[in-house]
Amino acid sequence: MIHKTFLLFVAILLFTIGFSQVKIQHLRTENFINPIGIDAKQPRLSWQLNSGERNAMQTAYELKVMSGKAVIWNTAKVNSDQSLYVLYQGPSLQSGLPYQWQVRVWDASGKASPWSEVAQWEMGMLNEKDWSAKWIESGFPEDSVNGPVPLFRKSFNLTKTISRARAYITAHGIYEAHLNGQRIGDALLTPGWTSYRTRLQYQVYDVTSLLAKGNNALGIMVGSGWYRGPLAWEKNRGIYGTKTGLLFQLELTYSDGSKEVINSDGTWKTSLGPIRSSEIYHGEVYDARLEQKGWTTADFSDEGWKQVVIKEESKQNLIATENEPIRRQEIFKPVKIFKTPKGETVVDFGQNLVGLVKIKVSGNAGDKITIRHAEVLDKEGNFYTTNLRAAKAEINYILKGGEPETYEPHFTFMGFRYVKIEGLKSQLTTDQLTATAFYSDMKSTSEFTTSNPLINQLQHNIEWGQKGNFLDVPTDCPQRDERLGWTGDAQVFARTATFNRNVKNFFSKWMKDVAADQQPDGRVPFVVPNVLKPTEGGSAGWADAATIIPWNMYLVYGDKKILEDQFASMKSWVSFMEQNSTNDLWNKGFHFGDWLFYRPDDDNDGRAAITDKYLIAQCFYAHSTQLLINTAEVLGKPDDVKKYTELLKKIKEAFLKEYVTPSGRLVSSSQTAYVLALHFDMLLETQRQQAANRLVQNIKEYNYHLTTGFLGTPYLCHVLTRFGFTDIAYRLLLQETYPSWLYPVKMGATTIWERWDGQKPDGSFQTPGMNSFNHYAYGAIGDWMYRVMAGIDTDSSAPGSKKISIKPYPGGNLQEVNASHDTPYGMVRSHWKVNGKSFQLMVEIPPNTSAIVSIPSNSLSTITEGGKAITSIKNLKGSEVVGNRVEITIGSGVYNFSSTLPD
Ligand code: BGC
Repeated sequence: MIHKTFLLFVAILLFTIGFSQVKIQHLRTENFINPIGIDAKQPRLSWQLNSGERNAMQTAYELKVMSGKAVIWNTAKVNSDQSLYVLYQGPSLQSGLPYQWQVRVWDASGKASPWSEVAQWEMGMLNEKDWSAKWIESGFPEDSVNGPVPLFRKSFNLTKTISRARAYITAHGIYEAHLNGQRIGDALLTPGWTSYRTRLQYQVYDVTSLLAKGNNALGIMVGSGWYRGPLAWEKNRGIYGTKTGLLFQLELTYSDGSKEVINSDGTWKTSLGPIRSSEIYHGEVYDARLEQKGWTTADFSDEGWKQVVIKEESKQNLIATENEPIRRQEIFKPVKIFKTPKGETVVDFGQNLVGLVKIKVSGNAGDKITIRHAEVLDKEGNFYTTNLRAAKAEINYILKGGEPETYEPHFTFMGFRYVKIEGLKSQLTTDQLTATAFYSDMKSTSEFTTSNPLINQLQHNIEWGQKGNFLDVPTDCPQRDERLGWTGDAQVFARTATFNRNVKNFFSKWMKDVAADQQPDGRVPFVVPNVLKPTEGGSAGWADAATIIPWNMYLVYGDKKILEDQFASMKSWVSFMEQNSTNDLWNKGFHFGDWLFYRPDDDNDGRAAITDKYLIAQCFYAHSTQLLINTAEVLGKPDDVKKYTELLKKIKEAFLKEYVTPSGRLVSSSQTAYVLALHFDMLLETQRQQAANRLVQNIKEYNYHLTTGFLGTPYLCHVLTRFGFTDIAYRLLLQETYPSWLYPVKMGATTIWERWDGQKPDGSFQTPGMNSFNHYAYGAIGDWMYRVMAGIDTDSSAPGSKKISIKPYPGGNLQEVNASHDTPYGMVRSHWKVNGKSFQLMVEIPPNTSAIVSIPSNSLSTITEGGKAITSIKNLKGSEVVGNRVEITIGSGVYNFSSTLPD
């Protein structure tokens, strides 16, 4: 009996110890899990704590880095709560080598955790001379823009057993590589899109398992892609070059330790393949009769193939891949197949998505199937493609005949919900087609649901706007002859994007392209990578991507590096505005203004919501300068802080003089004018509340409709909340008639539209010259939905959610909002329910952070946690009444608060 009781006691003790012990999880190197091929010479290492206990904190850590069995760097015990971006400071790292690391931490009671699992990373090529491979080209005269896609092939014999093999690949164009008949990796549209002249990414693959002793063969296709296909408009081709090319290096280690390298060089062979043309806007032509069966396998005879041409070229622009590659994500089956009034055979996939269709067909050799793509049907229910402008968005497949054939295009992507199929000789059935959505493989970090299904659909549309337009670069739209990295759109949506997905690597990479393409005078291009003229840049609200995005990424991920990397670019952009100002007033140059603001057709009453473009410019001039000051403060640059603080003062004075009447009225009486002036603190303290009242008055005059365009929209509801009008913000959010966020939802949208009225209530369309149904900019309301409705935010004094703010604003007749955000420290959740006057809030705070939870309530005594008075919360760090809210400071853990809402 004693024995049993004792065992039970020991079991409970062990369980309690195990449960209360902090564990380490989610080890990341440069924000990747076990990356292969990074070129950061001092990688930053991050981890998360896992604990079942409240108030779990790290007080110290010890980290060691190994190269095989040898420990090459050991921090010893460091008394610090830093668990993100610990800089590697050991001996120099070598190209191509793997390194392992482990960490353990001490908690608040001084107890050490067990060592974490071993994480690993592998270095890429750190020096230009590490590349022994040569650039090769096909040399075929037909290999031109819209010409056939060349195939590159190399067969080789391996006499020894392989223990490790790494393929380093990049291209002028987009490559698809195969080894012994198998696809290398699962990334699409590689090497991705960067400012190729200065920055071309290579990818590194572990191909050990694809190789065998004996004969092996490599087969790689290279399509035109962004490198030389038409971009921006039809004649704008060959922007980076006119010939596609391949750079390939296979580094082999045999089990006896010896090494060998197989390079792209003059021994490779080339031929033209079945892809007769493949190009981003126009699609692909594939003639299956020209397939060369088995060309990527060792048994294939390449006798008829010709020798490749070597291209001498510097490899200075080569960089390791900095963001997650594009990968296949969701697969859609047809929701229905139907005949339109015009008699077209159309398939509906139920979701406006970006990717490609895979089709299975049978027929005779030479039969041609055409697949066209559309986002919407017109008011008669016919297939509508006029809004794609010059983009053909068309796939042509020519059958080889015989057995059923399955085909999916290669070097293109389409934005569509519907496809029209022509050329089929038999009835199309739903099992013949699938649509695959693909996008940059950023981890999903969000959950956002409410008791209102329309808001849930809006959130769905915001997420799909992001999925469809985060294809290696942030694009304006994915379907028409554009698909470009418009800086304004990216700036407007970036903060919202951080809630939905982990976009840290995605934006770190793109911001470097922003800096790379910035002009010597500081002008930031309209689009990045810049495929327009170098002078096409410098528009207010677009160019400010240079300051706004790095600052937002710093706030959300808490990593100073993006500020260090971008500081020169930020400064140079502010100096461009300074140079182009007269008496501190930036009133020169071309500006897009508050793009696509409300503009009624019949405007006899002057109701169009026009905002003076230079007023907008002055606001962004101030905002960028403010962000530069903030950045200089974070980076410890007091001289810059001083200089730009003085400049900012003058910018604001010039604004008041030029655009504000003595009684505080703005020269443009638009929502955007008031929103920008208030959000960027352009007005005197004494003018602010009355300006906010005017904004509300304006909204009422439009019968509770917004009238803002790209630049005013992201801040509209934030300004309303800040000045005490969250009820008005909710009215705007819940407005179902045009212009509003829910109008497209009511019209059946599955993504965010470019325009508030892309499709009119009668089913007719806005002007086809500018009418995308997948443009994320207006999805910027997502930021307010997360930070205000759910109330999840990071404190800017401790970014990256080291200090969390949970400050939900119930309203809009919602009974429930449940949102979570996967932060660098772990999961944060705010889940509230309202029932009459009773308010419940479930909060989750990750270890190694603290949070201020702000609950709407008039007194501390009405609030309970877990059914008990909040004073009984262990280690409660503070609680106070602030206005009609109660602020409670807590550590990590899950908490269930209840309160009574104030009247
Ligand atoms: C794009 C926009 C972009 C704009 C510039 C358009 O063609 O689609 O989203 O920001 O041009 O005003």
